[in-house]
Amino acid sequence: MKKAIAVFASVFLFALFVAQGIATAGEVAAAISADDALKMMKEGNERYATDKMTHPHAGAARRQETSKGQTPFATVLGCSDSRAPVEEVFDRGIGDLFIVRVAGNVSNVDELGTAEYGAGHLHIPLIVVLGHTKCGAVTAVAKGAEVGGNIKALVSGIIPAASRSKAKGLKDDALVSDAITENVWQSITDMFAKSEEIRELVHAGKVKVVGAVYDLESGKVTWLGQHPNQAKLLGGHEEKKGH
Ligand SMILES: [Zn+2]
Repeated sequence: MKKAIAVFASVFLFALFVAQGIATAGEVAAAISADDALKMMKEGNERYATDKMTHPHAGAARRQETSKGQTPFATVLGCSDSRAPVEEVFDRGIGDLFIVRVAGNVSNVDELGTAEYGAGHLHIPLIVVLGHTKCGAVTAVAKGAEVGGNIKALVSGIIPAASRSKAKGLKDDALVSDAITENVWQSITDMFAKSEEIRELVHAGKVKVVGAVYDLESGKVTWLGQHPNQAKLLGGHEEKKGH
């Protein structure tokens, strides 16, 4: 009888975990779509922003399970800023997210090579380009700060975004805030311009690329959706629907 109760309890708990999007990596990878992955990201951030984190997929059992292989469900291109920790922000754990963090969440060679590996080899259906409020890299470019060393090349990708925001006549905080959003679009634009692999996967409906901005104070992520000019950026073709 005790055994029957234990079996029932474990089946119930498993169903509960699946319902909450906290299934194990293998189960998630089996059938997850970009839209399901996006839903899990949204729900995770909702838990984080409301202080209801569940800290899934932590600990020894999960380490043991994922030591056999990884099946993350989303790639995140985020900023290195210490206040924007990606697994925390989306309340995820070991083996869930494939993450690139670089100042200003720019799309350069190394970042795109990493994203291509995630999309092409790990079959990750979703790429999130995640900017954040009060981003130092975007602020430096928007305010025309002098930068030296390797930082100059790093932030050069942000210049077109800051220029668009300045052209709107914005100043100070409004300028920086707008440039942060523009920089997410710029990073996606550069991703499509420089990565034939990602263009083809998006065109084939195997990968979805969305923008988002994380608010350092509220903890909330504002979801921007796909690039408004995605069809044009992909080369004049609309991506297939219903994957
Ligand atoms: Zn930043």
